[in-house]
Amino acid sequence: MERPASRQSRKKVVAVVGGGLVGALNACFFAKRGFDVELFESREDIRRAKIVKGRSINLALSHRGRQALKHVGLEEKIVAQGIPMHARMIHSLNGKQSPIPYGRKGQYILSVDRANLNKELLTAAETYPNTKMNFDHKLQDCNAETGLMTFVRLDGSKEQVKAHLIVGCDGAFSAIRKQFLRRSRFDYSQTYIPHGYMELTMLPINGEFAMKPNYLHIWPRNTFMMIALPNLDKTFTCTLFMPFEDFEKITTGDEVIEFFQKYFPDTIPLIGADTLRRDYFRLPAQAMVSVKCNPYHIGDTCVLMGDAAHAVVPFYGQGMNAGFEDCIVFDEIMDQFNEDFSAVLPEYTRVRVPDDHAIADLAMYNYIEMRAHVNSKWFLFRKYVDNI
Ligand code: FAD
Repeated sequence: MERPASRQSRKKVVAVVGGGLVGALNACFFAKRGFDVELFESREDIRRAKIVKGRSINLALSHRGRQALKHVGLEEKIVAQGIPMHARMIHSLNGKQSPIPYGRKGQYILSVDRANLNKELLTAAETYPNTKMNFDHKLQDCNAETGLMTFVRLDGSKEQVKAHLIVGCDGAFSAIRKQFLRRSRFDYSQTYIPHGYMELTMLPINGEFAMKPNYLHIWPRNTFMMIALPNLDKTFTCTLFMPFEDFEKITTGDEVIEFFQKYFPDTIPLIGADTLRRDYFRLPAQAMVSVKCNPYHIGDTCVLMGDAAHAVVPFYGQGMNAGFEDCIVFDEIMDQFNEDFSAVLPEYTRVRVPDDHAIADLAMYNYIEMRAHVNSKWFLFRKYVDNI
């Protein structure tokens, strides 16, 4: 059954598809303006879920992202739940650690827990009386011109909903973006890099962080690297980035230890040999994709934001931050054009596409820089790590 386009309100209905980081924040932006906001998320409500599946366990929040959070009154709360990282800590093969500050004294980026951030953003969106959350609603199909969307539920039932504006925040494999692909003059490219990533947990030792907490730890090793970000529970999440073919070469627990002994010897006592033997095989390495497209909108009814518009490889630490910035840029254009979608949407594409493409290029450049030059010359290495 099709639900009506408006709930008897003076304001238009905005459907935010995807309740991840960018979708949940975007719902706050639209709700703050007084729109009737409906958020549709394919997963169950992660605030009640026992297991939350996500991309990375934690991520680096920087100035861009904080500005957007500030706009909807969330900056202080989120910052209080993050761990400042004032510098990278470079781990050499011989165990030597060298800090490289992110900026001037007092400047830092924050390590934040992805699931917690997502939960806080959903709760913040829900506090607006004009927001309705629809979990277990997977977008199956939509008509970007008419605003009609079809959702499928876990029990197989279907629901049709109509909105004045569809905001596609449904991530790198966006179902909304598929509508764009059917249209003429839509540019689209996607690139998988040969590297995958695997997350390993470093538990606290005697109740304390196993390494210095206020750093983003990096083990650069030419064709691959490992990084570690601190968590509030005093664990570190270590992320190993390596070509898939190298991941696949390691097939036994002993080979894992041999590999770590050769490249990351200082981490074995910290992660634990048994843990490494086990956790390396817990989940397969995950792929990383870079997506670029243009335009970001269709007429005055549909727009893409976050990874749906621009998935980037994570070597610049800016995917979420850029997605958050999309929200703030859109919001500013809404002011400029008095919330007239027919003017706002093309302007958003005009302003935002070049900047998002630049972030995607910088992230990819850093990935290549790392693979080709890291460790070969110190200044090139510096150039690379300066951007993480
Ligand atoms: P997502 O987080 O992917 O959320 C999309 C949401 O849409 C999900 O909840 C999904 O369930 C839902 N959805 C999908 N399909 C449908 C559908 N058909 N119907 C309804 N709902 C749907 N960024 C940073 O800024 N800093 C970092 O340090 C950082 N580190 C990273 C490390 C790794 C290893 C990776 C992989 C990424 C990292 N990123 C980082 C990038 C960041 O994860 C993404 O940019 C961010 O998650 C994008 O948010 P999003 O809301 O656009 O998409």
